[in-house]
Amino acid sequence: MGTVVYRMNEEGEKEYLDDITSETPRLVAVGGRGGWGNTRFATPTNQEPVLAQRGEKGEKVVLFLELKLLADVGLLAKPNAGKSTLISMCSAAKAKVADYPFTTVEPVLGVVNMGNNDFVMMEVPGLLEGAHDGIGLGHEFLRHAERARLYVHMLDGLSEDPVEDYRMINQELEQFNPEMAAKPQLVVVNKLDVTEVREYQEMLTEQLLDAIGDKGSSVHFISAATGEGVDTLLGNIIGALAELPKEEIDASLLPEPMHSRPQRSAGREAVWRASNGVFVVESEMMERLTAMADTRDQRVLLQLWREMRKTSLADRLIDAGIEAGDTIRFGKVELTWF
Ligand code: GDP
Ligand code: MG
Repeated sequence: MGTVVYRMNEEGEKEYLDDITSETPRLVAVGGRGGWGNTRFATPTNQEPVLAQRGEKGEKVVLFLELKLLADVGLLAKPNAGKSTLISMCSAAKAKVADYPFTTVEPVLGVVNMGNNDFVMMEVPGLLEGAHDGIGLGHEFLRHAERARLYVHMLDGLSEDPVEDYRMINQELEQFNPEMAAKPQLVVVNKLDVTEVREYQEMLTEQLLDAIGDKGSSVHFISAATGEGVDTLLGNIIGALAELPKEEIDASLLPEPMHSRPQRSAGREAVWRASNGVFVVESEMMERLTAMADTRDQRVLLQLWREMRKTSLADRLIDAGIEAGDTIRFGKVELTWF
């Protein structure tokens, strides 16, 4: 879901095919018509045909699949606040965790499984000063996070001034995209396992509530490292998400899906003599028959011969001057004319 499907054309360009917004199956490549069994080749004089035909080749396509980042929750914070640790803690995502800033070079999506309430949480790597001006990597990353429905604004409890961090990030957000800044936030202070943070909890809560003002968020304390408070936070996220509209992919903004149809060859047939003296037969039908047939079996050869007589191929080979002992090539198979 949320994957955009393109077909690569022969020039190596992407052609838009479809946008996966529901579980309805889509046809992207048409299978070949089925093969014919031996009985298809039975005739009154040949009741035990040894030829069978393989199914026709199906359509072959190269697809380019692009996952749109449809995160429900964007995790905002300064570098080192503990975003990656939290995502790793509550999802299967393997975020890089390190003790220095800017570790994350790509947004990390984690699917958080909470019973029937799965949601996708996305790490928005540390906002840099001036991220809105496109300085550093912040700008590009932020764009991925624009579609989140809810932000978890994580503060580093060990930061010198978490309240100032909170203001700074909201300012950045406001300048980058006021729409993002207007979305609901849950404020979370991390690293509660550290004694200083725990001691500071009550005071910090008050200061933060002041800074949050009428934005209405409560303040949660967690330890992403030990998991303390994380379940409560996830429960609150689910509660908040339940009250927010789910973003639909706006299908009207996308081009009409292209309905792929196989391009069946128009029964192209050609016979020519290659420079090495081999008679090359270009015939889809014969190529299919020979690819499958056991050409060491005389009965098979005889029957191939009959099939060639039915079309004009045998005559054309004779016209081209074929003689007993000459080699004929059908696709990858070579036979001796007899
Ligand atoms: P990010 O930059 O926001 O993704 O932060 P990381 O998850 O990479 O964490 C940065 C540093 O903080 C790492 O050294 C983590 O081990 C540490 N850290 C993260 N969460 C906690 C926590 O709850 N308690 C403590 N004590 N350290 C933490
Ligand atoms: Mg990180």
